[in-house]
Amino acid sequence: MSVIVFADQQQGKIKKAAQEAVEYAAKVAAQLGTDVSAVVVGEVANEELTGLGKHGAKKVLHVADARLNEIEPGVCAKILAEAVNQESASVVIFTHNFSGKAIAPILSAKLKAGLVTGAISLPDTASGFVVKKSVFSGKAFANVNISSDKKIVSVMPNTFNLEPGTATADVATFSPSISDADFKIKMVKVETVEGEIPLTEAEIIVSGGRGLKGPENWGLVEDLAHVLGAATACSRPVADSGWRPHHEHVGQTGLTVRPNLYIAIGISGAIQHLAGVNGSKVIVVINKDPEAPFFKAADYGIVGDAFEVVPKLTEALKAYKA
Ligand code: FAD
Repeated sequence: MSVIVFADQQQGKIKKAAQEAVEYAAKVAAQLGTDVSAVVVGEVANEELTGLGKHGAKKVLHVADARLNEIEPGVCAKILAEAVNQESASVVIFTHNFSGKAIAPILSAKLKAGLVTGAISLPDTASGFVVKKSVFSGKAFANVNISSDKKIVSVMPNTFNLEPGTATADVATFSPSISDADFKIKMVKVETVEGEIPLTEAEIIVSGGRGLKGPENWGLVEDLAHVLGAATACSRPVADSGWRPHHEHVGQTGLTVRPNLYIAIGISGAIQHLAGVNGSKVIVVINKDPEAPFFKAADYGIVGDAFEVVPKLTEALKAYKA
Protein backbone atom coordinates (compact mmCIF):
# COMPACT_ATOMS: atom_id res chain seq x y z
CA MET A 1 0.00 0.00 0.00
CA SER A 2 1.47 3.37 -0.98
CA VAL A 3 0.43 6.83 -2.12
CA ILE A 4 0.91 8.23 -5.63
CA VAL A 5 0.71 11.90 -6.55
CA PHE A 6 0.47 13.34 -10.04
CA ALA A 7 2.84 16.32 -10.10
CA ASP A 8 2.09 18.32 -13.20
CA GLN A 9 4.48 20.64 -14.93
CA GLN A 10 4.37 23.55 -17.31
CA GLN A 11 7.21 24.20 -19.73
CA GLY A 12 9.45 21.84 -17.78
CA LYS A 13 8.80 23.39 -14.35
CA ILE A 14 6.84 21.64 -11.62
CA LYS A 15 3.90 23.88 -10.74
CA LYS A 16 3.62 25.37 -7.25
CA ALA A 17 0.19 23.79 -6.88
CA ALA A 18 1.77 20.42 -7.73
CA GLN A 19 4.36 20.93 -4.98
CA GLU A 20 1.45 21.53 -2.60
CA ALA A 21 -0.19 18.29 -3.79
CA VAL A 22 3.08 16.40 -3.17
CA GLU A 23 3.30 17.79 0.38
CA TYR A 24 -0.36 16.84 0.94
CA ALA A 25 0.33 13.34 -0.42
CA ALA A 26 3.37 12.98 1.87
CA LYS A 27 1.20 13.84 4.88
CA VAL A 28 -1.44 11.30 3.79
CA ALA A 29 1.33 8.70 3.36
CA ALA A 30 2.63 9.47 6.85
CA GLN A 31 -0.89 9.00 8.26
CA LEU A 32 -1.07 5.60 6.53
CA GLY A 33 2.48 4.63 7.52
CA THR A 34 3.73 4.44 3.95
CA ASP A 35 5.69 6.42 1.30
CA VAL A 36 4.74 8.67 -1.58
CA SER A 37 5.85 8.37 -5.21
CA ALA A 38 5.30 11.25 -7.61
CA VAL A 39 4.48 10.67 -11.27
CA VAL A 40 5.77 13.36 -13.65
CA VAL A 41 5.18 13.31 -17.40
CA GLY A 42 6.91 15.28 -20.16
CA GLU A 43 10.38 16.73 -20.51
CA VAL A 44 11.48 18.01 -17.10
CA ALA A 45 15.03 18.72 -15.86
CA ASN A 46 16.45 16.27 -13.34
CA GLU A 47 16.82 18.89 -10.59
CA GLU A 48 13.08 19.67 -10.83
CA LEU A 49 12.41 15.96 -10.29
CA THR A 50 14.86 15.38 -7.45
CA GLY A 51 13.59 18.65 -5.93
CA LEU A 52 10.24 16.98 -5.26
CA GLY A 53 12.06 15.26 -2.39
CA LYS A 54 11.93 18.62 -0.59
CA HIS A 55 8.16 18.29 -0.64
CA GLY A 56 8.12 14.74 0.67
CA ALA A 57 8.31 12.52 -2.44
CA LYS A 58 10.53 9.50 -1.80
CA LYS A 59 10.57 8.47 -5.44
CA VAL A 60 9.71 10.12 -8.76
CA LEU A 61 8.46 8.00 -11.66
CA HIS A 62 9.33 10.04 -14.73
CA VAL A 63 7.76 9.46 -18.14
CA ALA A 64 10.18 11.52 -20.23
CA ASP A 65 8.01 11.61 -23.33
CA ALA A 66 7.87 14.88 -25.30
CA ARG A 67 4.36 14.02 -26.49
CA LEU A 68 3.27 14.61 -22.87
CA ASN A 69 4.73 18.11 -22.52
CA GLU A 70 1.09 19.14 -22.88
CA ILE A 71 -1.29 17.03 -20.80
CA GLU A 72 -3.49 14.51 -22.58
CA PRO A 73 -5.93 13.31 -19.88
CA GLY A 74 -6.70 9.84 -21.28
CA VAL A 75 -3.03 8.97 -21.72
CA CYS A 76 -2.12 10.31 -18.27
CA ALA A 77 -4.90 8.23 -16.69
CA LYS A 78 -3.50 5.14 -18.42
CA ILE A 79 0.01 5.94 -17.15
CA LEU A 80 -1.24 6.51 -13.62
CA ALA A 81 -3.22 3.26 -13.63
CA GLU A 82 0.01 1.43 -14.47
CA ALA A 83 1.89 3.33 -11.77
CA VAL A 84 -0.81 2.44 -9.22
CA ASN A 85 -0.38 -1.23 -10.17
CA GLN A 86 3.41 -1.15 -10.06
CA GLU A 87 3.54 0.64 -6.70
CA SER A 88 0.54 -1.22 -5.20
CA ALA A 89 -0.87 2.19 -4.41
CA SER A 90 -4.19 2.64 -2.64
CA VAL A 91 -4.38 6.45 -2.74
CA VAL A 92 -3.81 8.83 -5.67
CA ILE A 93 -3.55 12.59 -5.17
CA PHE A 94 -4.04 15.30 -7.80
CA THR A 95 -4.11 19.08 -7.82
CA HIS A 96 -7.64 20.40 -8.35
CA ASN A 97 -6.64 22.30 -11.50
CA PHE A 98 -7.37 21.83 -15.19
CA SER A 99 -5.26 18.67 -15.51
CA GLY A 100 -6.40 17.17 -12.21
CA LYS A 101 -10.04 17.86 -13.06
CA ALA A 102 -9.57 16.15 -16.44
CA ILE A 103 -7.49 13.11 -15.41
CA ALA A 104 -8.89 12.18 -11.97
CA PRO A 105 -12.41 11.18 -13.14
CA ILE A 106 -11.00 8.98 -15.93
CA LEU A 107 -8.64 7.27 -13.48
CA SER A 108 -11.48 6.94 -10.98
CA ALA A 109 -13.56 5.03 -13.55
CA LYS A 110 -10.57 2.87 -14.57
CA LEU A 111 -9.70 1.89 -10.99
CA LYS A 112 -13.27 1.90 -9.63
CA ALA A 113 -11.90 4.30 -7.04
CA GLY A 114 -13.93 6.78 -5.00
CA LEU A 115 -13.01 10.38 -5.84
CA VAL A 116 -13.28 13.56 -3.81
CA THR A 117 -12.48 16.75 -5.71
CA GLY A 118 -11.29 20.04 -4.23
CA ALA A 119 -10.23 18.72 -0.81
CA ILE A 120 -9.46 21.35 1.80
CA SER A 121 -8.38 19.05 4.62
CA LEU A 122 -6.19 16.05 5.17
CA PRO A 123 -8.27 12.87 5.40
CA ASP A 124 -9.55 11.85 8.80
CA THR A 125 -8.52 8.20 8.92
CA ALA A 126 -9.79 7.50 12.44
CA SER A 127 -13.01 5.92 11.17
CA GLY A 128 -12.68 5.62 7.40
CA PHE A 129 -11.13 8.09 4.97
CA VAL A 130 -13.10 11.29 5.39
CA VAL A 131 -12.12 14.33 3.32
CA LYS A 132 -13.54 17.82 3.72
CA LYS A 133 -14.46 19.96 0.71
CA SER A 134 -16.42 23.14 0.25
CA VAL A 135 -19.78 22.96 -1.54
CA PHE A 136 -22.49 25.35 -2.75
CA SER A 137 -19.93 27.91 -3.89
CA GLY A 138 -18.17 28.04 -0.54
CA LYS A 139 -21.37 28.41 1.52
CA ALA A 140 -21.07 25.01 3.23
CA PHE A 141 -18.66 22.14 3.85
CA ALA A 142 -19.13 18.46 3.12
CA ASN A 143 -17.21 15.66 4.84
CA VAL A 144 -17.04 12.81 2.34
CA ASN A 145 -16.00 9.29 3.29
CA ILE A 146 -14.29 7.33 0.52
CA SER A 147 -15.16 3.73 1.26
CA SER A 148 -13.72 2.02 -1.87
CA ASP A 149 -10.37 0.22 -1.61
CA LYS A 150 -8.69 2.69 -3.94
CA LYS A 151 -9.13 6.36 -3.20
CA ILE A 152 -8.51 9.49 -5.27
CA VAL A 153 -8.38 13.03 -3.90
CA SER A 154 -7.77 16.28 -5.74
CA VAL A 155 -6.42 19.06 -3.54
CA MET A 156 -7.58 22.67 -3.78
CA PRO A 157 -4.58 24.84 -4.79
CA ASN A 158 -3.32 27.47 -2.36
CA THR A 159 -5.00 25.79 0.59
CA PHE A 160 -1.96 24.26 2.24
CA ASN A 161 1.18 26.30 2.89
CA LEU A 162 4.39 24.91 1.42
CA GLU A 163 6.83 23.67 4.06
CA PRO A 164 9.78 22.37 2.00
CA GLY A 165 12.54 20.33 3.61
CA THR A 166 15.96 19.46 2.24
CA ALA A 167 15.64 15.84 1.03
CA THR A 168 16.08 14.79 -2.59
CA ALA A 169 13.88 12.25 -4.35
CA ASP A 170 15.15 9.19 -6.22
CA VAL A 171 14.24 9.46 -9.89
CA ALA A 172 13.28 6.35 -11.85
CA THR A 173 12.46 6.29 -15.54
CA PHE A 174 8.96 4.95 -15.96
CA SER A 175 8.06 3.40 -19.31
CA PRO A 176 4.33 2.70 -19.41
CA SER A 177 2.84 0.85 -22.36
CA ILE A 178 1.50 3.79 -24.33
CA SER A 179 1.48 4.03 -28.10
CA ASP A 180 0.72 6.69 -30.71
CA ALA A 181 -2.82 5.26 -30.94
CA ASP A 182 -3.46 6.34 -27.32
CA PHE A 183 -2.98 10.00 -28.28
CA LYS A 184 -6.33 11.32 -29.50
CA ILE A 185 -5.58 15.04 -29.23
CA LYS A 186 -3.11 16.86 -31.43
CA MET A 187 -1.78 20.10 -29.96
CA VAL A 188 -1.72 22.55 -32.84
CA LYS A 189 -0.30 25.62 -31.16
CA VAL A 190 0.38 26.90 -27.67
CA GLU A 191 0.12 30.64 -27.20
CA THR A 192 1.65 32.15 -24.09
CA VAL A 193 1.51 35.81 -23.22
CA GLU A 194 4.97 37.17 -22.45
CA GLY A 195 5.43 37.99 -18.77
CA GLU A 196 1.88 37.04 -17.75
CA ILE A 197 1.52 35.45 -14.30
CA PRO A 198 -0.85 32.43 -14.36
CA LEU A 199 -3.86 33.37 -12.22
CA THR A 200 -4.00 30.11 -10.28
CA GLU A 201 -0.34 30.48 -9.30
CA ALA A 202 -0.47 34.22 -8.53
CA GLU A 203 0.19 35.42 -5.00
CA ILE A 204 -1.37 38.82 -5.69
CA ILE A 205 -4.30 39.49 -8.02
CA VAL A 206 -5.75 42.83 -9.10
CA SER A 207 -9.23 42.29 -10.48
CA GLY A 208 -11.62 44.65 -12.25
CA GLY A 209 -15.39 44.67 -12.71
CA ARG A 210 -18.05 46.51 -14.64
CA GLY A 211 -17.45 49.56 -12.45
CA LEU A 212 -14.45 50.29 -14.65
CA LYS A 213 -16.89 51.23 -17.45
CA GLY A 214 -14.92 49.87 -20.41
CA PRO A 215 -11.75 48.17 -21.71
CA GLU A 216 -10.13 51.54 -22.36
CA ASN A 217 -9.80 52.01 -18.58
CA TRP A 218 -7.96 48.75 -17.93
CA GLY A 219 -4.65 50.58 -17.71
CA LEU A 220 -5.75 51.40 -14.14
CA VAL A 221 -5.83 47.70 -13.22
CA GLU A 222 -2.66 46.89 -15.16
CA ASP A 223 -0.62 49.73 -13.64
CA LEU A 224 -1.53 48.67 -10.10
CA ALA A 225 -0.86 45.02 -10.96
CA HIS A 226 2.50 45.94 -12.47
CA VAL A 227 3.71 47.80 -9.40
CA LEU A 228 2.63 44.88 -7.16
CA GLY A 229 3.96 42.13 -9.45
CA ALA A 230 0.38 40.85 -9.60
CA ALA A 231 -1.75 38.97 -12.10
CA THR A 232 -4.91 40.58 -13.47
CA ALA A 233 -8.40 39.10 -13.32
CA CYS A 234 -11.97 40.23 -13.97
CA SER A 235 -15.61 39.52 -13.24
CA ARG A 236 -17.67 37.50 -15.68
CA PRO A 237 -19.62 40.34 -17.35
CA VAL A 238 -16.29 41.98 -18.13
CA ALA A 239 -15.13 38.86 -19.98
CA ASP A 240 -18.57 38.33 -21.54
CA SER A 241 -18.46 41.89 -22.90
CA GLY A 242 -15.09 41.19 -24.48
CA TRP A 243 -13.31 43.82 -22.36
CA ARG A 244 -10.91 41.13 -21.11
CA PRO A 245 -10.07 37.58 -22.27
CA HIS A 246 -12.14 34.75 -20.77
CA HIS A 247 -9.13 33.13 -19.11
CA GLU A 248 -9.10 36.10 -16.69
CA HIS A 249 -12.66 35.51 -15.51
CA VAL A 250 -12.86 34.31 -11.91
CA GLY A 251 -15.85 32.91 -10.05
CA GLN A 252 -18.28 30.05 -10.07
CA THR A 253 -18.09 29.64 -13.84
CA GLY A 254 -14.48 30.81 -14.15
CA LEU A 255 -11.26 30.15 -12.28
CA THR A 256 -10.99 29.59 -8.54
CA VAL A 257 -8.10 31.59 -7.13
CA ARG A 258 -6.56 31.72 -3.67
CA PRO A 259 -3.93 34.43 -3.70
CA ASN A 260 -2.46 36.02 -0.59
CA LEU A 261 -3.97 39.32 -1.69
CA TYR A 262 -7.03 39.91 -3.94
CA ILE A 263 -7.81 43.52 -4.82
CA ALA A 264 -11.30 43.94 -6.30
CA ILE A 265 -11.95 47.19 -8.15
CA GLY A 266 -15.49 48.11 -9.22
CA ILE A 267 -16.84 44.61 -8.56
CA SER A 268 -20.15 44.31 -6.69
CA GLY A 269 -19.33 40.98 -4.98
CA ALA A 270 -22.11 38.75 -6.32
CA ILE A 271 -22.15 35.27 -4.78
CA GLN A 272 -21.03 33.75 -8.09
CA HIS A 273 -17.95 36.00 -8.11
CA LEU A 274 -17.18 35.35 -4.43
CA ALA A 275 -17.31 31.59 -5.09
CA GLY A 276 -14.05 31.88 -7.01
CA VAL A 277 -12.19 34.28 -4.73
CA ASN A 278 -13.38 33.80 -1.15
CA GLY A 279 -10.40 31.57 -0.37
CA SER A 280 -8.06 34.54 -0.82
CA LYS A 281 -6.08 35.27 2.34
CA VAL A 282 -6.66 39.04 2.28
CA ILE A 283 -9.37 40.78 0.23
CA VAL A 284 -9.28 44.51 -0.48
CA VAL A 285 -12.39 46.03 -2.07
CA ILE A 286 -12.52 49.39 -3.84
CA ASN A 287 -16.09 50.40 -4.66
CA LYS A 288 -17.94 53.70 -4.72
CA ASP A 289 -21.09 52.15 -3.26
CA PRO A 290 -20.74 51.65 0.52
CA GLU A 291 -23.57 49.08 0.33
CA ALA A 292 -21.76 46.88 -2.23
CA PRO A 293 -22.02 43.27 -0.95
CA PHE A 294 -18.29 42.70 -1.52
CA PHE A 295 -17.49 44.84 1.55
CA LYS A 296 -18.97 42.08 3.76
CA ALA A 297 -16.33 39.65 2.45
CA ALA A 298 -13.50 42.20 2.56
CA ASP A 299 -10.64 42.47 5.04
CA TYR A 300 -10.06 46.07 3.96
CA GLY A 301 -12.48 48.30 2.09
CA ILE A 302 -12.06 51.64 0.37
CA VAL A 303 -15.31 53.46 -0.41
CA GLY A 304 -14.47 55.71 -3.31
CA ASP A 305 -14.35 56.25 -7.04
CA ALA A 306 -11.88 53.79 -8.59
CA PHE A 307 -10.78 56.45 -11.07
CA GLU A 308 -9.53 58.58 -8.17
CA VAL A 309 -8.47 55.92 -5.64
CA VAL A 310 -6.56 53.47 -7.85
CA PRO A 311 -4.10 55.92 -9.49
CA LYS A 312 -3.32 57.36 -6.03
CA LEU A 313 -2.76 53.88 -4.62
CA THR A 314 -0.49 52.99 -7.56
CA GLU A 315 1.54 56.19 -7.15
CA ALA A 316 1.85 55.64 -3.38
CA LEU A 317 3.08 52.08 -3.93
CA LYS A 318 5.58 53.26 -6.56
CA ALA A 319 6.89 55.90 -4.14
CA TYR A 320 7.08 53.31 -1.34
CA LYS A 321 9.07 50.93 -3.55
CA ALA A 322 11.43 53.61 -4.88
P1 FAD B 1 -21.79 44.89 -11.41
O1 FAD B 1 -22.67 43.98 -10.65
O2 FAD B 1 -22.43 45.76 -12.43
O3 FAD B 1 -21.03 45.78 -10.33
C1 FAD B 1 -20.23 46.87 -10.64
C2 FAD B 1 -19.77 47.47 -9.32
O4 FAD B 1 -18.90 48.55 -9.62
C3 FAD B 1 -20.89 48.03 -8.47
O5 FAD B 1 -20.79 47.51 -7.14
C4 FAD B 1 -20.66 49.54 -8.45
O6 FAD B 1 -21.00 50.15 -7.22
C5 FAD B 1 -19.17 49.60 -8.71
N1 FAD B 1 -18.75 50.85 -9.36
C6 FAD B 1 -19.33 51.50 -10.38
N2 FAD B 1 -18.60 52.57 -10.74
C7 FAD B 1 -17.55 52.61 -9.89
C8 FAD B 1 -16.43 53.48 -9.75
N3 FAD B 1 -16.26 54.53 -10.55
N4 FAD B 1 -15.53 53.23 -8.77
C9 FAD B 1 -15.68 52.16 -7.92
N5 FAD B 1 -16.73 51.30 -8.04
C10 FAD B 1 -17.63 51.50 -9.01
N6 FAD B 1 -19.86 36.60 -12.12
C11 FAD B 1 -18.53 36.48 -11.94
O7 FAD B 1 -17.82 37.48 -11.70
N7 FAD B 1 -17.94 35.25 -12.05
C12 FAD B 1 -18.65 34.11 -12.31
O8 FAD B 1 -18.06 33.03 -12.41
C13 FAD B 1 -20.05 34.21 -12.48
N8 FAD B 1 -20.79 33.13 -12.73
C14 FAD B 1 -22.14 33.26 -12.81
C15 FAD B 1 -22.93 32.10 -12.98
C16 FAD B 1 -24.30 32.22 -13.04
C17 FAD B 1 -25.11 30.98 -13.20
C18 FAD B 1 -24.91 33.49 -12.96
C19 FAD B 1 -26.40 33.62 -13.01
C20 FAD B 1 -24.15 34.62 -12.82
C21 FAD B 1 -22.76 34.52 -12.75
N9 FAD B 1 -21.96 35.65 -12.58
C22 FAD B 1 -20.63 35.51 -12.40
C23 FAD B 1 -22.51 37.02 -12.65
C24 FAD B 1 -22.75 37.62 -11.27
O9 FAD B 1 -24.03 37.25 -10.80
C25 FAD B 1 -22.68 39.16 -11.34
O10 FAD B 1 -23.62 39.62 -12.28
C26 FAD B 1 -21.32 39.69 -11.72
O11 FAD B 1 -20.32 39.14 -10.88
C27 FAD B 1 -21.29 41.21 -11.59
O12 FAD B 1 -20.11 41.70 -12.13
P2 FAD B 1 -19.54 43.11 -11.65
O13 FAD B 1 -19.43 43.12 -10.17
O14 FAD B 1 -18.32 43.38 -12.45
O15 FAD B 1 -20.64 44.12 -12.18
